[in-house]
Amino acid sequence: MVLPSNWVFRTLIFCRKIITYNCFWKTVMQKTTPDQLAHFFALSLDLFCVADSDGYFRMLNDAWGRTLGYSLDELLAVPYINFVHPEDLNATVTVQQGLDDGLQVLDFENRYLTKDGNWRWLSWKAVPQADGTIYAVARDITSQKEDEKATEQLLIRLEQTNHELDQFAYIVSHDLKSPLRSILNLSQWIQEDLGEALTTEVAAHIALLQVRAGKMQQMIDDLLQYAKTGRNEKPVVEVDLNHLILEIQGVQQIPVGFRIEIPQPLLNVFGHPVELFQLFQNLISNAIKYRKSDMGFVSITQSDLGDYWRFEVADNGIGIDANHHQRIFEVFQRLHTSEEIDGTGIGLALVKKIIERMGGSIVVHSQKGSGATFSFTWPK
Ligand code: ADP
Repeated sequence: MVLPSNWVFRTLIFCRKIITYNCFWKTVMQKTTPDQLAHFFALSLDLFCVADSDGYFRMLNDAWGRTLGYSLDELLAVPYINFVHPEDLNATVTVQQGLDDGLQVLDFENRYLTKDGNWRWLSWKAVPQADGTIYAVARDITSQKEDEKATEQLLIRLEQTNHELDQFAYIVSHDLKSPLRSILNLSQWIQEDLGEALTTEVAAHIALLQVRAGKMQQMIDDLLQYAKTGRNEKPVVEVDLNHLILEIQGVQQIPVGFRIEIPQPLLNVFGHPVELFQLFQNLISNAIKYRKSDMGFVSITQSDLGDYWRFEVADNGIGIDANHHQRIFEVFQRLHTSEEIDGTGIGLALVKKIIERMGGSIVVHSQKGSGATFSFTWPK
């Protein structure tokens, strides 16, 4: 198609407004001839067009043919609405009416039919002119849309898998509770039945069995707690963290000399009170459990990151080797045996789950022997 050079020129002026390479375009416009501008017009990867007020394209660049597979004459022959996906028709008509009323269009998206029967997503910027024509540029965003859809589907699958895993952990831990209770009861009855015949050795074995079964019960309870977390359907509420930490101090065994420091009063956050309690309780109780001496401390600070709060829970305890900074957040991962320091290895996994379910994230900064700082974000 032979392009009327004044149209090319006007279209390029419009492009210059839209494309942000202002300086570049100024230079181009000042120094180039209409022929050279026509080259740029033809070369563009974006789809440039001028449309009539009666709904037909009047002028198109070559990118249209390359993107949709039609000849330019085929595209010029019928109203452009004929190419629009049926589901996008209403929105397109509304945008068209806006243009008729003199409104500009920015980032409007619709699908266009290709010659081979597929659909391409186009993202539009368009400006109406005083004479009723519309100058517009469209970008093919089909692959971006496909990526978004793939990510969305992946997230849905991930959510389903997480839900199934939670369900599995919940059922298994729930069902394991009753046989375990029977084992503990039976061991007690054996002890009672043996009476005088109970030797020191058998008594020691039974005691060991009860300790181990007790430990297993604790692990099941923690796992159940972990599986239940995040099932909270209740709406989030405003929580006073200063009050919450006082409550934790009330239930936590704190060695004499150990300090829980809050240098600045904490500002309220939105969340589920029970989960926030579990979160801070686990971090504070770990700071106490993994202290170097009874004169240790844990300090809790809050800073504003805009859309998020950042909390830092820092202690001066035994610290964590950098090799284990990821592992400690996994279920049942411990760096100590139960004989050394009691625990089930669920605490930090639970903390991470609570934070991530709310849309935040957590990391630890620490070196072995030099304390640990757990830093997490919490959406406002
Ligand atoms: P648990 O305390 O029951 O072992 P957690 O999931 O709370 O389980 O912690 C996992 C591991 O991370 C702990 O076994 C411990 O080795 C390490 N850890 C957690 N908090 C701290 C801390 N404040 N200082 C040093 N080590 C810690």
